[in-house]
Amino acid sequence: MAKRDYYEILGVSKNASDAEIKSAFRRLAKEYHPDVSKDPNATEKFKEIQEAYAVLSDKTKRSQYDQFGHDAFSENAGGFGGAGFDFSGFDFGDIFSDIFGSSFGFGGSSRNTNRPRKGADIAMQMHLTFEEAAFGKEKTINIEVEEECSSCNGHGGTGEERCDRCHGSGTITAEQRTLLGTYLTKTTCPVCRGKGHTYKNSCSKCRGRGHVKTNKEIVVKIPAGVDEDSQLRLAGKGGIGINGGPNGDLYIEFKIDSHPLFIREDNDIYLELPITITEAILGAKKEIPTLYGSVILTIPSGTQSGAKLLLKDKGIANVSTKRKGNMYVIVNVVIPTKLDRKQKDLINKLAETNLENNDIFTKYKKKVK
Ligand SMILES: [Zn+2]
Ligand SMILES: [Zn+2]
Repeated sequence: MAKRDYYEILGVSKNASDAEIKSAFRRLAKEYHPDVSKDPNATEKFKEIQEAYAVLSDKTKRSQYDQFGHDAFSENAGGFGGAGFDFSGFDFGDIFSDIFGSSFGFGGSSRNTNRPRKGADIAMQMHLTFEEAAFGKEKTINIEVEEECSSCNGHGGTGEERCDRCHGSGTITAEQRTLLGTYLTKTTCPVCRGKGHTYKNSCSKCRGRGHVKTNKEIVVKIPAGVDEDSQLRLAGKGGIGINGGPNGDLYIEFKIDSHPLFIREDNDIYLELPITITEAILGAKKEIPTLYGSVILTIPSGTQSGAKLLLKDKGIANVSTKRKGNMYVIVNVVIPTKLDRKQKDLINKLAETNLENNDIFTKYKKKVK
């Protein structure tokens, strides 16, 4: 198979700057890293990208490649000493930790596995009633978390011994052969998992892991005013820290049940109030349920259907400012559909009078002509 052009692999032009080459490499390495990519040929592509970058990021090698192409590095290269290039000195570690974050355990960056790291964050959902969200509540939840093993105090065993496999360094160095030569990659020691030591007697409770899964009860204080999809972060209540690092965080996302009467919009509450035509015409006093008990609302005479009446400060307190929202009563004038004989007579009598004594009718008629 013919080797692809290095510039083509990185998708840059022949006169690309160092910065362009680096950024193309970063983008492609991120896309094709075998640990993250779903591409079935990711490993091959990733090697190809690494190789192209190893050459094009090096001034000398790049100019040799520009002059002689792939022949510059092949076994039978004419004027170049013939042996190909030794890439063992090329350290991808820094650029990888730069791309994938310092906790990414790949190649050179794995030398950092002994370093304390934050535990995993845990996310969960919690269902609340409308009132619980409005007023806040203390709730006890049960979650499964990793905790330090009590029988070995998190060590994983007793009788510490230096790890034979990695001679105490916690990492092992492997040679990776490519067409360009050999370079070295460091990986976490599989025997001691990067600790550098093992134990004569492995702890049976945690099977040497130093931590165990336990169910833990946590009391969560839900503040008043949380809304749908809002999140509460409980610092340090997530997964156990690694190598003595801090615990991860617990994130609780709220899902709020709907209310039979109230509709919430931010911190305001809407309530649809059905009234009769006579209440709309003559006005009325209505008892309105609110989160803070019932109140009497005056419906003025001549209230139209759809009118929005304000009940100040009867909404929900803002979770951070504590300022209360309002409640809005939306009037729905219900037209009767079944009338008895007496009611029909009264309506007929009413119909004999002029009910079009409202500007709306005049305006409408002007427009229609
Ligand atoms: Zn243990
Ligand atoms: Zn080891």
